[in-house]
Amino acid sequence: MSFAKLGLLPPLTQTLADLGYAVPTPIQQQAVPAVLAGRDVLAAAQTGTGKTAAFVLPLLQMLAATPATGPAPRAVVLVPTRELAEQVLASCQRYGAGLPLRSYALYGGVSHGPQLTALRDGVDLLVATPGRLIDLFGKGELRLREVRHIVLDEADRMLDLGFADDLATVFQALPRERQVLLFSATFADAVRALAQARLRKPLSIEATPRNTAARTIRQWVVPVDKKRKPELFLFMWRDRGWQQVLVFVKTKLGADELAERLRGKGIAAEAIHGDRPQASRQAALAAFKAGTVAVLVATDVAARGLDIDGLPQVVNFDLPLQAEDYVHRIGRTGRAGAAGEAISFVCADEAPQLAAIEALLKKKLSRDEEPGFEPRHQVPATLGAAPPRRPPPLAKAGAGRGRTPGNWVGFDERPARGAGRGRPGGAKGGRGGR
Ligand code: AMP
Repeated sequence: MSFAKLGLLPPLTQTLADLGYAVPTPIQQQAVPAVLAGRDVLAAAQTGTGKTAAFVLPLLQMLAATPATGPAPRAVVLVPTRELAEQVLASCQRYGAGLPLRSYALYGGVSHGPQLTALRDGVDLLVATPGRLIDLFGKGELRLREVRHIVLDEADRMLDLGFADDLATVFQALPRERQVLLFSATFADAVRALAQARLRKPLSIEATPRNTAARTIRQWVVPVDKKRKPELFLFMWRDRGWQQVLVFVKTKLGADELAERLRGKGIAAEAIHGDRPQASRQAALAAFKAGTVAVLVATDVAARGLDIDGLPQVVNFDLPLQAEDYVHRIGRTGRAGAAGEAISFVCADEAPQLAAIEALLKKKLSRDEEPGFEPRHQVPATLGAAPPRRPPPLAKAGAGRGRTPGNWVGFDERPARGAGRGRPGGAKGGRGGR
């Protein structure tokens, strides 16, 4: 299977060859021809499956085939976070290098000025968080009447963040004739309702990266007393010879404190969280990708959608409060065919969160104590393997292949979702950068 067989033309296939993309991923194989044919698409896909290219490539080709009649965007990709907006924009620019198209990202937390200039100069493909998009639309600075294609990327997360009303506002502003593409890691009721209301006879696709056999993550739990977690991290960092680790913590303060402590031990560490200005978040991420920062300590909101090539380890320094976030967190490793490790430091207090994660995964995570760090406060036994609260209709049957030590999980195991969450303050979004 080649990209040309999917209907993509030389400016794109050449760029893909230059990027070293030899074959389309399963979701690209299914989605690209359907999108090019103008169909609505409903795709169950997580990051790491190649989903961004699955919609960006056909969008670019369709936009290039029809000349713009004015400055207004003709395609909009809505994403939940600023980081994902930047990342999708980077993909648009990378894949569209051979085409005369303009892409731009709008998100909050930054001044309007450059965004207004960009919109007036003309944008073909606009990537945006819903908040800033609505803001500029409401002020009459953004025209949505020319939009022919709209993508809801990580739709589940957008709904979790409370963007349902904003999405409804956007859809009202769109012309009736439009193509809608909805990508979501999970299909909670709210996502299904959104799909039912907005998509017309969609092609349903499930991206099961089963064929990419190496998309496996070895994951295990290290029971440890809460106050010894920093010490344990330092020990494992040295003992295992880790070089680049993404660490998840629960709070912004916790992120700053851990990064500070690691720096004190001579490890180049940076924290990213919602209180850090956008520019320094971007700088920290760029430094981490470039390898000048070895440990990136992140909270969940800041880390959503990060795409870091070949990231070998993810450490859950604290377990997430929402079990679903565990799946998103560990999805930062083992991407695009590489293997990865996800290690969770779990203290006695976190047993309920561990139980919720195991129920979601429908498997018990193996516990491997680190000699010298055996907890004084035992982590209570978790039952694990409890049934999820709702049956996941799109879930694949069968658990991951158990191996020792740790468990390996193929990402074709789709978790069920619980109820949505409230919208955290400041999650709205947007500035752009070309
Ligand atoms: P995504 O699921 O869109 O976040 O993509 C995950 C990673 O896979 C990104 O780093 C892409 O650059 C990479 N990727 C996407 N499609 C392909 C492909 N066909 N071959 C190789 N790498 C790819």
